[in-house]
Amino acid sequence: MNFVRRLQCVQCGAIYSTRVPYTCPTCGVTGILDVQYDYTAIARQLTRRRLEARSEKNHWRYRELLPISDRAVLPALSVGWTPITLTPPLAQELGLKTLYLKDDGRNPTGSLKDRASSVAVVKAREKRCHIIACASTGNAASSLAGMAASLGLKSVIFVPERAPEPKVTQLLVFGATVLRVRGGYDQAYELCQKACEQWGWYNRNCAINPYLVEGKKTVGLEICEQLDWDVPDWVAVSVGDGCTIAGTWKAFREMKLLGFIRRTPKMLGVQAEGAAPVTEAFHSGKALRPVTPQTLADSIAVGVPRNWKKAVLAVQESGGTMLNVNDAEILEAMRSAGRLAGIFAEPAAAAALAALHRAVREKLISPRARTLAVITGNGLKDIRAAQSAVSGPFEVAPDGTGLEEALRQRGLIG
Ligand SMILES: [Zn+2]
Repeated sequence: MNFVRRLQCVQCGAIYSTRVPYTCPTCGVTGILDVQYDYTAIARQLTRRRLEARSEKNHWRYRELLPISDRAVLPALSVGWTPITLTPPLAQELGLKTLYLKDDGRNPTGSLKDRASSVAVVKAREKRCHIIACASTGNAASSLAGMAASLGLKSVIFVPERAPEPKVTQLLVFGATVLRVRGGYDQAYELCQKACEQWGWYNRNCAINPYLVEGKKTVGLEICEQLDWDVPDWVAVSVGDGCTIAGTWKAFREMKLLGFIRRTPKMLGVQAEGAAPVTEAFHSGKALRPVTPQTLADSIAVGVPRNWKKAVLAVQESGGTMLNVNDAEILEAMRSAGRLAGIFAEPAAAAALAALHRAVREKLISPRARTLAVITGNGLKDIRAAQSAVSGPFEVAPDGTGLEEALRQRGLIG
């Protein structure tokens, strides 16, 4: 059994049983469903002390707050419980007194998406689907392929024609069936939807699957527990389709509801200047207007975010705000995180750091605030973007010619 009681459409408010597979039957694909639990029953079973006594160092320690049964077969890969570190030198560089980094690049396939994919494969198995599909080229796809492999399921990934080779290779290594669709992302997405309907595969598209955001939620649950139930004043999360920030906020709301934390943090939603429809909708109060995304932060380069409404509501409810950063600021933040904290962040993750920097400069956040940035993915996954953040190595001859000059330039010798 589990504690899920019902599903509610975020668009029309209609209530459904968990037998509704994906989106609201009335609203169609825009009717994203929110998973609702019996919190009274959860509170009887789950206390801070019981939680702290659990030995599992992964995100299944929050099973009461996840849409999985207590008899579920879980993937062997360990997801979540990623470290939170204080980074005084980086904090100082960004103009902050206190900055925590939650490094989700340390998940098995290198991104926060593992939290969602691990729940997806468990749900697929529960529904006796042995094939699970998604359309993506990025972290969602590699994460799904890895998690499916870990649980003995088959994965089918639809990628657009121009999907980058390294990412396609990662999928192939995980044993996914990769279908390169002659067309763009939207066409790959459509074809994936049709295939799932035709052959009854489980659909791991974040846009429509209500359970994925529940997996993402665990990043917020961990922040509460790892910081000893004393949450930061601000939590910065980059926003692509809006799922991650909505999930993180849901965690804080639930922890407050259960009485585990006294207050919730303000959310800082971050987009790239070249792909900022959610920020626009947040500040204008109007419906989202799609854009053609242009940014090197590919994980948040989303022109038509499907979960924008949940994201906007999350930031509003938290009393936070949204802002944009440009690619130059993102690259600068990537260098700073690497140089001052030893963390190789993907561009989307660096965007959260760049946004904190900007928020302090623009006096949206006090320099004395306790802040946390979610590092959503590892920079090694997008080496091309990282290369544009740094200069190349020094060329040195085997006999040492050029060595002293290089060391002098770096200030390592006088
Ligand atoms: Zn609806």
